[in-house]
Amino acid sequence: MTGIRLQEHHVVARVPKLGDAATIIDAPLTIRVDPLTGHTSRLLHGEKLAPTSRPDLSELTATPPFCPFCEDKIEIATGVFDEQITREGRIRRGLSAVVPNVMAYSEFSSVGLYDTTQHFRDLDELTPEIVSDLLTGLTAYTRGVHSIRPMWHSINANYLPPAGSSLVHPHAQSAHDDFGTTQQRRLIEASNAWEGEQSYWRELVELERGGDRWIGTRGRVRVMTPWSPVGFHEVWMLVPDAADIVDLTEDDCQDLGAVLSAVLQGYHGFNLASFNWAMYGGGPKRSDRYGVLLRAVSRSNPEPMYRSDVTYFERLHGEAMIDLTPEQVAEAMRPHLAGVTHD
Ligand SMILES: [Zn+2]
Repeated sequence: MTGIRLQEHHVVARVPKLGDAATIIDAPLTIRVDPLTGHTSRLLHGEKLAPTSRPDLSELTATPPFCPFCEDKIEIATGVFDEQITREGRIRRGLSAVVPNVMAYSEFSSVGLYDTTQHFRDLDELTPEIVSDLLTGLTAYTRGVHSIRPMWHSINANYLPPAGSSLVHPHAQSAHDDFGTTQQRRLIEASNAWEGEQSYWRELVELERGGDRWIGTRGRVRVMTPWSPVGFHEVWMLVPDAADIVDLTEDDCQDLGAVLSAVLQGYHGFNLASFNWAMYGGGPKRSDRYGVLLRAVSRSNPEPMYRSDVTYFERLHGEAMIDLTPEQVAEAMRPHLAGVTHD
């Protein structure tokens, strides 16, 4: 039995018909409430904001004369880690590399390159092996930082300028400090306050397994779309048996990498070209009430004068406006993940 309540409100607005302003029609709207945090999102009906074709990325992604993350420059343009964190200097796994971040947005932070040998990889070229190696390297760095003292850990990615990335060479970043972020603290506080017999995250998997938002499993990874998304095409990759990033095994990193790679293939299938993902650790005070969550969302395509997918709703109200329902996203994603997940 589960105590999770999936709550939604149905609203009907009366609006002039597009192209026929004299006619007033009913426009339905669904407002969904996240059962853990109370976050609400608005699912629009009939509005289709997804692009109908992929943008030409060739100019944006051409190899520049100098890129600090390309293999011929990385040894001179990036530093090495303090021996307290790792004796590896730069952490290399396969074609990936993890190096110190020159930007300080946390006490400790790193940059992870999916592949130093290629300046740009499109979404369909971020293979399971490439993504798994990146996650394995960033998790190794996180363990090194954690050995100094327990902290809040997250591993995150911006891909191309619409997602906030200043450098085109595909990369991810990690952040580690004593404070965490608003979202991290909110998730942990709500997970700890959850009164169910088992953790919220285990209950959620029980509730969603086999349903309209369920995509599948791989190893200890559970894949689904969220009831109340915070972004477009949002997919959740959950590891309910790992309370923190430092608890992820090598197998977990392989499985998360395979699933995330398949999700990005799915985004490519939607004609998308930009995304963010974030993986939240469970915080410095260990709790079996939390499970690691890796969430991915798509972003606007990089096109001249593009329309941002973040409006005042998302930026100033913390409220997502979504055109496809999570159930539609799950249905479209399943074929892309069929080869890498079970049930
Ligand atoms: Zn490069």
